[in-house]
Amino acid sequence: MAEVLVYVDHVDGAVRKPTLELLTLARRVGEPVAVALGNGAADTAAALAEHGAVKVLTHDASEYADYLVVPKVDALQAAVESVSAAGSLVAVLVPSSAEGKEIAARLALRIGSGIITDAVDLEAGDEGPVATQSVFAASFTTKSRVSKGTPVITVKPNSAAVEAAPAAGDVSELSVTFSAQATGTKVTGRTPRESTGRPELTEAAIVVSGGRGVNGAENFAIIEALADSLGAAVGASRAAVDAGWYPHTNQVGQTGKSVSPQLYIANGISGAIQHRAGMQTSKTIVAVNKDAEAPIFDLVDYGVVGDLFDVVPALTEEIKTRKG
Ligand SMILES: Cc1cc2nc3c(=O)[nH]c(=O)nc-3n(C[C@H](O)[C@H](O)[C@H](O)COP(=O)(O)OP(=O)(O)OC[C@H]3O[C@@H](n4cnc5c(N)ncnc54)[C@H](O)[C@@H]3O)c2cc1C
Repeated sequence: MAEVLVYVDHVDGAVRKPTLELLTLARRVGEPVAVALGNGAADTAAALAEHGAVKVLTHDASEYADYLVVPKVDALQAAVESVSAAGSLVAVLVPSSAEGKEIAARLALRIGSGIITDAVDLEAGDEGPVATQSVFAASFTTKSRVSKGTPVITVKPNSAAVEAAPAAGDVSELSVTFSAQATGTKVTGRTPRESTGRPELTEAAIVVSGGRGVNGAENFAIIEALADSLGAAVGASRAAVDAGWYPHTNQVGQTGKSVSPQLYIANGISGAIQHRAGMQTSKTIVAVNKDAEAPIFDLVDYGVVGDLFDVVPALTEEIKTRKG
């Protein structure tokens, strides 16, 4: 059977959820071969095998941590060449993070292939994998396939439910020769983000967001309390961010982050097109808004017309009670 390369996003050997989602999607189009690089690469093997990786190609070198993306592009290109030489390679899948998209774009250019970014679904097709994208501020859903070279496809987090499917996960060392460009951009310092204990916004299965209706930075505590009761990430509309109530890193929308969780709860958000652009592909959308005519109600699965200062704390309490 044809093979699909899956680029592994991991932190010191701990595989991140978007990669497990990629493995689930990869199995629809071929046999997954995972590529894990950097510190702890070999430690990823068990989790990758558990989720369907037939082979795991690993390589560790200080270059991956010390320089920006090019060493990783060199390694992924080496994996493409090695798998293509041994059989048939149907696609390369990469998580749709900022780094993932840069790696994918550089790889596609190098191997002369077409690229599809920000896919939200993937299926097998007669002439190669077919990717679904949500485009033009999520007002259209398109299906496309790469018509030149080996398709390079980046897939958004939360595009598939993770399904375990144990496979061999045979580990082998990838042979990588770094290019002259690999050491062109050195990392000169790192400051870890202060942890909130909440999941990363773009990867979270549930996002609870607040907008202008929250009416003040201090009131975001009730949005955070609802988020924490659900193990969710916190998002914010641009109006809330511009008012200085919540950090820009949490902004959802056209000029913020694009999220696609299983559940998105919008509180005091009107549903402007620029906000919708960043959350419209969420699987289930719930809104709390005191204006029954608010445009957000056009796209919700469940809507509550009410004052968020009554509804949100009541919802939080009910969730806590039900969780026991
Ligand atoms: C180029 C450009 C890019 C942009 N990018 C983004 C982006 O990335 N993300 C983004 O979000 N916006 C973006 N915007 C801004 C966008 O157009 C809207 O202005 C913004 O989304 C509005 O935020 P909001 O829904 O919080 O505020 P509003 O539109 O003011 O809506 C507030 C809502 O809260 C409700 N409300 C008020 N009080 C309560 C209460 N007590 N209980 C319940 N409901 C209440 C109101 O009924 C209202 O519907 C962009 C705009 C431009 C021009």
